[in-house]
Amino acid sequence: MRALPAYNTARRLEKQMNRCSRFSGRCGCSEVRYGLRNPPLFVHACHCLDCQKASGSAFRITTIVLERDIVISQGDVSFRKISTQRTEFICKSCGDVIYGTATNHPATALLNTRTLDDPRMLEIGAHIWTVDRHPWLVLPTDVPQYEKGYERNEVWPQENLQRLRRAVDEGGRI
Ligand SMILES: [Zn+2]
Ligand SMILES: [Zn+2]
Repeated sequence: MRALPAYNTARRLEKQMNRCSRFSGRCGCSEVRYGLRNPPLFVHACHCLDCQKASGSAFRITTIVLERDIVISQGDVSFRKISTQRTEFICKSCGDVIYGTATNHPATALLNTRTLDDPRMLEIGAHIWTVDRHPWLVLPTDVPQYEKGYERNEVWPQENLQRLRRAVDEGGRI
């Protein structure tokens, strides 16, 4: 097999790096594409039974971002009210949920982790509801674990709590 010229390989690697250096995602039909202006505020893995059932897996990864950090770069997003407090933002074509918001959590959005191009970029900040954890699952000891929920003020990095406070003060505007 003919070897690729060195510069080609280097450029390809550079492209890959650029693609991976920023969070991006898309809906199931790829009509809607988005990027994140900043990394998530916090990511946790929830082991509660509800999350096990909803994900069909041992836990669900919840990706919490600033709503204003989500930049829809392509496609049409519509929304639907799922309760008086909660709204989901969905792809108009395939109905995939991109993210959801709740009035009791101003300025934040729960990004649908499944829509990320590369969810491996996420850094899990905590494992929660470990009381319901599958017994065979061994969790890393260097990530905080909580038997039930956690207090965000005690667990989230200070810097990200400040980012959130700023966004709430500014009414979510950029
Ligand atoms: Zn779609
Ligand atoms: Zn849960």
